[in-house]
Amino acid sequence: MRGMSIEIKMVIGSILFAFLLVAVERYQFSENIIEQFLESKKSKNKLLMDTISPIVSLNIALGLEDANQEYLHQIVHQNHDILRFELVDAQGKKLYSYMKNPSKKLKKRIDGVYFSAQSLADGLTGEKFGTLYAYFDDHEYRQMVQKNKEATIKLFTIALIMLIIFIAYIKRELSFLKKLSEHVLNYDPQRNNFTLMTSKRTDEVGVIHNAIISMVNKINTYATLLDEMNHSLTLKVQERTKELEEANAQLQELSLMDPLTQLSNRRGLEIHLQNVWELAKRNGVAISMIMCDIDHFKNVNDTYGHLVGDYVLIDIAKLLKTSLKRKADFIARYGGEEFIIVLYDTQSDAAAELCTTIQHTLKLFDGFDYSGTKLESLTLSFGIASSIPEETRSYQELIKRADVALYEAKEEGRDRFMVSS
Ligand code: GH3
Ligand code: MG
Ligand code: MG
Repeated sequence: MRGMSIEIKMVIGSILFAFLLVAVERYQFSENIIEQFLESKKSKNKLLMDTISPIVSLNIALGLEDANQEYLHQIVHQNHDILRFELVDAQGKKLYSYMKNPSKKLKKRIDGVYFSAQSLADGLTGEKFGTLYAYFDDHEYRQMVQKNKEATIKLFTIALIMLIIFIAYIKRELSFLKKLSEHVLNYDPQRNNFTLMTSKRTDEVGVIHNAIISMVNKINTYATLLDEMNHSLTLKVQERTKELEEANAQLQELSLMDPLTQLSNRRGLEIHLQNVWELAKRNGVAISMIMCDIDHFKNVNDTYGHLVGDYVLIDIAKLLKTSLKRKADFIARYGGEEFIIVLYDTQSDAAAELCTTIQHTLKLFDGFDYSGTKLESLTLSFGIASSIPEETRSYQELIKRADVALYEAKEEGRDRFMVSS
C-alpha cells in the first residue's frame, strides 16, 4: 500500500464509495419490490374473491350446494397459492372446506395478502348467505426477496467497513505529512536541527519527504560554507584594518604637517632647518630662532576642557603665523603648546622685536571666546637664540639655546622673552 500512488488510492476510495451507493440503492430497490409484490398480491386476491362471491351467493340462494362444491373445488385447483379455503353459511355451518396442509397452523391476518374474508349477501334484499375465508401462500417469493435484501445488507456492510478502513489509512498517511511539515517549520539552518531520516516509501509522500531531506542537507552544507566564509571574511577585515592603521600611522609620521594647527610639524621643522642652515652657512648670514610657549596652558585644559584648549592652540598658531612678515620666515609646532619660529638672515634684536609685537597683538586680541566660554587673557613666554652657522655649530645647538632661554623666561615670571647669550 505504501508504494501505491495517491492517484490509485483516490481511485480505490471512489470505487469503495460507489459500492456503498450501489448497496444503498439496491436496498431501497428490494424494499420497493416487496411493497409492489404485496400490493399486486392483494389486488389479485381481491379480484378472485370478488369474482367468486356473486356465483357462490347465487348458488346458495338457489340451493345448489353441489354446484358450489364443484365450483369452489375448481377454483382451489386453479389457484396453487391457496392454502386454505372455507365457505361458512349464515348459521356458521361449513358448506365447503379445503386445506392444502392440514397440520400447518395459519395466522389469520386481515390484510388481504395472506388472508381474505368476504361476506356473501343477497344484492337486492341484503340477506346474509355466509362468509368465504381464504388463506394464500407467498412463501417462495418472500424468501427470494429476503435473500436479496440480505445480500444487499452484506454488500453495504462490507463496503462501509472497507471505506472506514480506507479513510483511517488516509488519515494516517496525512499524519505522516503533518509530521514532515512540522519538522520543516521548526527547522533552523543555524542550529542544524532537522532530525528526520530518509523514507523507504516509493509513493509521492515518500518522494516529497526524501526531496525535502535532500534540500535540507544542501542548505546545511551551504550554511556551514557561509559560516566559514563569514569567519574568514571577518579575519580578513581585521587584518586589513590593522594594515590600514599601520599605514595611517606611517603616513602620519611621513607627513610634515601638524593636523591641529595646520603648521609644519617637528619633522617639517627639521627639514626646513637643514636647508636654511646650509643656505645661511653659505651666505654667511645669521639665523634667529624663537621658541615660544603658552603660559600656564595646563590651566586652560583643566578649567575649560581639552576641546577649548585645542581651539586656543589653533588661534595662537594663527596669531603667530600672521605675525611673520617675511617670506623666508618659518613657523612650526614643536610640540604640545610650544612653537618655534625660524628667521633667516635675522639678528636677535629683530627677533626680540617680533616677540614684543606678538605680545602686543596678543594683549589686544580678545578672540578667546568659545561658545560663550570667555577665557582669561593668555600670555606667552619666548626664548631667543641667534647664530651665524659655522661648521662646528649645528641647528640642534640653536634649538637647545632657545630652549634654555625660554626656561629662563619662565623662571623670571613668564610673559616675557629672554635672549640666549
Ligand atoms: P608653563 O607656563 O610652565 O608652560 O605651564 P603649562 O601649564 O603651559 O605647561 P605644562 O607643560 O605643565 O603643560 C602643558 C599642557 O599643554 C599640558 C598638555 O595637556 C597641554 N597640551 C599639549 N598638547 C596639547 C594639545 O594638542 N591640545 C590641548 N588641548 N592641550 C595640549
Ligand atoms: Mg611647554
Ligand atoms: Mg606652557
